Amino acid sequence: MHGFNEQPIEIGRLQRFAMDHFHAQGGRLPRKSDEKRPEKIACIGAGPASLAAAAELRQQGFQVTIFDKRSLPGGLNTYGIAEYKLPLTDSLREIELIKDLGVQFRLGVEICGENSLAELEAEFDVIFIGAGLGAMHRLAIPGESHSGVIDALQFIEDYKTGKTTQIAGDVIVVGAGNTAIDAANAAKRLGARSVSILYRRTREHISAFDFEYRQALQEGVRFLWLTQLMAIHSSAIGITSVECLCTEIDSDGSLKPIDDSTFHLECNLVIPAIGQSPLLELLTQCRDVQLEQGRVVVDRATGQTSNPKYFAGGDCVNGGREVVDAVADGKRAGIAIARLLEVAYV
Ligand SMILES: Cc1cc2nc3c(=O)[nH]c(=O)nc-3n(C[C@H](O)[C@H](O)[C@H](O)COP(=O)(O)OP(=O)(O)OC[C@H]3O[C@@H](n4cnc5c(N)ncnc54)[C@H](O)[C@@H]3O)c2cc1C
Repeated sequence: MHGFNEQPIEIGRLQRFAMDHFHAQGGRLPRKSDEKRPEKIACIGAGPASLAAAAELRQQGFQVTIFDKRSLPGGLNTYGIAEYKLPLTDSLREIELIKDLGVQFRLGVEICGENSLAELEAEFDVIFIGAGLGAMHRLAIPGESHSGVIDALQFIEDYKTGKTTQIAGDVIVVGAGNTAIDAANAAKRLGARSVSILYRRTREHISAFDFEYRQALQEGVRFLWLTQLMAIHSSAIGITSVECLCTEIDSDGSLKPIDDSTFHLECNLVIPAIGQSPLLELLTQCRDVQLEQGRVVVDRATGQTSNPKYFAGGDCVNGGREVVDAVADGKRAGIAIARLLEVAYV
């Protein structure tokens, strides 16, 4: 089809078509089996990965319970992806479809420590880990502990849940990935006088998608390339400025600070967005589940981990990609878990 047409596939329009059809048919997820299966599956995390796994399993008649430490389900769809891209109400409306299937939710419950995992293992036949990633990396520079430094995830959450409705003054965002861009755009929409993204390397090195970068430019976000944040300065009234250093890239690609290139920028709010760390406090407690560089190692086709009772998917496996990847992982794991339990049942 693609070879015949030679045009880019319009995925957004295909998704629109599929959803219009879904709603025209009544907008309910169908059950794939009328059987009521006795096996119980626990999903840790109520983000896209677990929701997809839970929906698949419930559609096949299994008993599924989702645990999340937060009070609302949806993971980063609810708390992370900026409001202008995915409104909170849309995220929660989709979850109602999964609730309607009969998936149970235990919200405000953090699975932590060996005891709580041992309890899950005793109560459930299979555990799916869809716990995402951990906290943002720290800048590790002087002044970072000031209350005017808010990491990008917290900042976007406050914007999305309506806790922050406006900001004044000058904002510096550190990092140039998609999260940094979301935070910068949100700061602009909340009324910041100026928003600048500081990045140690150049435009060619950023991990943000090109369309996200261009949107930020349209929003009025300024990019300062080859600039490293060194310190945050404050007075009794709050953050006043940041201290920066110019960098250059050597012929071997390594980054080098330029001597005597320090300069200051006026600033009232600093938003670090330099990536999330792995969720080691949970993952290291999952019995016999192998990790590599903080990510859960799984069999790609099934999502099964080195402990056959545990499956995993989403950001905790791939290190942080997109919703569609998490959903695909969850669905694949749901199908594989159903097969595993059917074989055991026969
Ligand atoms: C700022 C930002 C913007 C993004 N924008 C986009 C975008 O525009 N488009 C896109 O496709 N992707 C985007 N992404 C990526 C996308 O949100 C993630 O890839 C996706 O949400 C991963 O899904 P997940 O289910 O693996 O994890 P998450 O969505 O992180 O969900 C994990 C859940 O597990 C819960 N949890 C963690 N530990 C425990 C525990 N011990 N006990 C109980 N619950 C626990 C958490 O509370 C959370 O609800 C963005 C990410 C960020 C950070």
